[in-house]
Amino acid sequence: MIGGKNMGYCTNIRTERGCFCTFVPPYILENLAKAGVEDATMTIHQDMLSRKERESEIPSIGILMGVTPATGRSSRHVYDSGNGMDYQVKLVMSEGGPVVADDAVNNAYDYIGNFRDYFKTELGRDSIDNKGMDIICNVHFGVKYNNAFFNGKEITLGDGDDVIFSSFAKSLEVIAHELGHGIVQWTADFEYRNQSGALNEHFADVFGSVVTQHIEKSTAEDADWLIGDEIMGPKLYGEALRCMASPGTAFDNDLMGKDPQPDHMRDYYKGPNDNGGVHINSGIMNRAFYLASKELGTNNAALIWYTALQNLWPTASFNDAVAQIVRATQLLIKRGRIKSGATQKVRAAFKEVGLPARDESGIPGIPTAQLIQF
Ligand SMILES: [Zn+2]
Repeated sequence: MIGGKNMGYCTNIRTERGCFCTFVPPYILENLAKAGVEDATMTIHQDMLSRKERESEIPSIGILMGVTPATGRSSRHVYDSGNGMDYQVKLVMSEGGPVVADDAVNNAYDYIGNFRDYFKTELGRDSIDNKGMDIICNVHFGVKYNNAFFNGKEITLGDGDDVIFSSFAKSLEVIAHELGHGIVQWTADFEYRNQSGALNEHFADVFGSVVTQHIEKSTAEDADWLIGDEIMGPKLYGEALRCMASPGTAFDNDLMGKDPQPDHMRDYYKGPNDNGGVHINSGIMNRAFYLASKELGTNNAALIWYTALQNLWPTASFNDAVAQIVRATQLLIKRGRIKSGATQKVRAAFKEVGLPARDESGIPGIPTAQLIQF
């Protein structure tokens, strides 16, 4: 799995356990920079520096797999980067500690707890690694840093410039999305490019959305299904980064450009940007999840998707994911966790977005021979 296989995309990151998964996709930051938003240029620059730093810091998958992850009590630890670009600089809150004067710290702590507790109570998972690992978060990273990311070890949140984006720490969705990348890393560990990369982003969006719906006590019917709407600053108020219900409609303005997400396989993005469209083609899977949730309830759909995730693998395609999600549905029906009839509803949700794909030739990274028919 290690070696030159991943050359060409994100080479410094995805060959290792742990990708550099940023919340705001690179194409949006590039559009903001083109539109003259100075802080977007700064964020791109800081992202690049962070990626470079990760290169030397994250141990390879081979090294990590030989080591049992530290067993903790899934305690939360929030650090303040003090607007610098270092991690775990000053510990400002640990599990059970008192509330502090800084909202970013309190929010991050609470939202990490919401995520951890959802997985424990609803999905039976003990923290990110299912072995109770502690969850580490850095707040106030960089200066006016317009992004948030998971680097394979911890999550890091910028303050935003308060014009385009506001503090990333004030969004449960952002935090649950980034920690969702952690769940993916310790399960399917999808390679961060092309379809497997889009699956990585898709599952992170699923977890970001389901944890938020659970806490807000909303249903598939009344949830907004938007990703990132809470962090839009005054200039972009009313926009979002993605819409799971109607991919491609989250934003359309002079600063960000237009939401490029397709909602069907016929519009699949085949270009090289964004690691082969990891934040773009995820829209297709996102819509299928939304449609399944409307039929089955979000919590049931989340249980099915999470069960399937544990049986997927690093190079899995959309078709592989569909097959595993259908199998997971059948398994959960057998166990009495999901009502019979769900399989047909899941298949129908995928059919509406053109999955399973009948012909994947021409899609980067997916040989035609891998085609699955069922
Ligand atoms: Zn992501």
